[in-house]
Amino acid sequence: MKKQVLSCIQPTGEMHLGNYFGAVKNYVDLQSEYNCIYGIVDYHAMTMPYDAKKLRLNSWDLIISLMAVGVKAENLFIQSLIPEHTELGWIFSTVASYGEMTRMTQFKDKSQQVKEESKDAFISAGLFTYPVLQAADILIYKADYVPVGKDQTQHLELTRNIAQRFNSQFKTDYFVLPEILYTETPKIASTADPTRKMSKSAGEKHWIGVFADEKRMTKQIKSAVTDAGDMPFNQETGKREMSEGVANLLQILKACGKTKEHDDIVDLYNEGSLRYGDLKGIVAEAIVEMTAPFRERKAELSADKKAVKNQIKASSAEIRKTAQQTLREVKEITGLLNPKA
Ligand code: ADP
Repeated sequence: MKKQVLSCIQPTGEMHLGNYFGAVKNYVDLQSEYNCIYGIVDYHAMTMPYDAKKLRLNSWDLIISLMAVGVKAENLFIQSLIPEHTELGWIFSTVASYGEMTRMTQFKDKSQQVKEESKDAFISAGLFTYPVLQAADILIYKADYVPVGKDQTQHLELTRNIAQRFNSQFKTDYFVLPEILYTETPKIASTADPTRKMSKSAGEKHWIGVFADEKRMTKQIKSAVTDAGDMPFNQETGKREMSEGVANLLQILKACGKTKEHDDIVDLYNEGSLRYGDLKGIVAEAIVEMTAPFRERKAELSADKKAVKNQIKASSAEIRKTAQQTLREVKEITGLLNPKA
């Protein structure tokens, strides 16, 4: 039997290169080998301050974006169309340990961000409990593999702990312990500040949209932070060390499939004859070339949104059947339902 893959993405704005290279590229590639399910997690998007008018629009835009880069419609679902996720999330909140939840670094980062962005905003309890709902998103489909970026490692560990605790509390081996699948580029940095990850939540200049206008993409790469002066030589390797900004541009180049160009540039760098302007030009060109067919496909799909919506409602209904089955079994195991009824 084929192994089960599951991953989710929040409809909080446009898809960026961090999402694409860190996770979505894997979504596409894994489809040929595994049973894959990918969710647009709109309930998660409500845990940070958000605009109610944009939530649905963002969900549909993300669906079309995922389809445009090669995710099959039948593998996609919208979380709020499958209410069993939240039901299982509640059950898991009684299995998750409070102490462990308080150690989630993403909660600390995001609550800090809420405080910084607005005096009036408050930190929702949902932001604190969202990793439990995430565990439900994954375990409800008994996923074997979860393709995500590095920022999700701690949440995946929590998911495994919840599965393990559930199994031992109810003396069963019901839940599979999922494993993370990283891409070759699990962490893409912001080109404006390579010390932080590329993220929508960090602000406009910290992410490059996969479907952005070519000129804008090129401009963002051309203004990428590289390094101010010469980097020191590493005594052990005898090579010049690389700044985070240059290393980030190089990993983007390689991720675009330009392995030869990447290797040539590394040689130039080691010789000390690389001009950063040239590097940026090559990287910008590679990104524009890679994303051009995505932009075309998105325009085609956007021309018939009704067809896309019908497809996704049908795929969500089909995927829901698995979630319903799991929830029924969990209710029996936990004593909520009579297994013989
Ligand atoms: P964001 O951090 O921009 O809000 P999401 O939380 O919706 O994005 O992330 C969706 C997927 O993209 C997750 O699997 C996440 O690990 C991955 N991802 C997000 N940002 C990056 C990044 N800078 N580098 C690599 N992967 C990333």
